[in-house]
Amino acid sequence: LQQLSKQFYLYDQTTNEKGVVDAVNDVDLDILSGETLGLVGESGCGKSTLGRCILRLIEPTAGKIIYEDQNLLEIPEKAFKPYRKKMQIVFQDPFASLNPRKSIRFILEEPLIIHGMSNSQDRKNRLDETIDKVGLTQDDLNRYPHEFSGGQRQRIGIARALILKPDFIVCDEPVSALDVSIQAQILNLLIDLQQEMRLTYLFISHDLSVVKHISNRIAVMYLGRIVEIAPTEEIFENPLHPYTTALLSSIPAPDPTMKKDRLILEGDPPSPLNPPTGCRFHTRCPQQMDICSKKVPERKAITSEHHVYCHLYNDLGNS
Ligand code: SF4
Ligand code: MG
Repeated sequence: LQQLSKQFYLYDQTTNEKGVVDAVNDVDLDILSGETLGLVGESGCGKSTLGRCILRLIEPTAGKIIYEDQNLLEIPEKAFKPYRKKMQIVFQDPFASLNPRKSIRFILEEPLIIHGMSNSQDRKNRLDETIDKVGLTQDDLNRYPHEFSGGQRQRIGIARALILKPDFIVCDEPVSALDVSIQAQILNLLIDLQQEMRLTYLFISHDLSVVKHISNRIAVMYLGRIVEIAPTEEIFENPLHPYTTALLSSIPAPDPTMKKDRLILEGDPPSPLNPPTGCRFHTRCPQQMDICSKKVPERKAITSEHHVYCHLYNDLGNS
């Protein structure tokens, strides 16, 4: 992704304020083939919007999405179908995304028909192969979404994302609505499927402890901008951006006797209708300096793989 932005025109009925919401602002992000890139941040920071922009479920306002040397945003809608097949999404709430009046068989078979698999035996084979991968049975195919538990429904949501054999899946908070005991099952399923089918994931979550187990790298987002990106271990062991530090300290320690320096984020994030100038985090940052409200921090490479947007740091070293 290069300098991807999405602005929404929004009319806020409570304040009568009209404006442009800068949901995603100048995001530069590489997603490497075969990896899981975790994308974390508070709700409303633009994570889901970014995920949907990549799939062109919503059209970005500006920027480029480069996939196999093509800028996807330059491909006309009509010619985009083959790319749709390659890029899928798993939603947080599978129930809301599954048509309650259709059987699971219909729900899973429909994308195959849309994408031109006309032979019914081919469709049956693909269907059988896919339900087997996610742990559903033949009987399940004749049932309806409301007959399943949350975890089972998410298996259906995953099956629907997989049925076209995609390369890339945006997982948008896929376990956030599930019981903790079920979360691990679904995460493990996603990990197994990734290896088996050589999938690339963008894994969106507000919860760092969820992305930790599945991500190779983590990007932290605040109010529409990426603030830090690094390999997962590096984010946990050497977080640099004050916002990342704050997110990490909000995770309960596995051993409560081990006191961490807790940094509590005060207040809600500012409105994206009117984001703070300079570094967008400066209104909540304990380390803010004069320059922070004046100048947008540039991307600094601390190592080749660890990048941070904060005035405290310079390239390849610290302040
Ligand atoms: Fe804090 Fe300034 Fe860094 Fe922003 S740029 S995170 S306000 S120190
Ligand atoms: Mg969201």
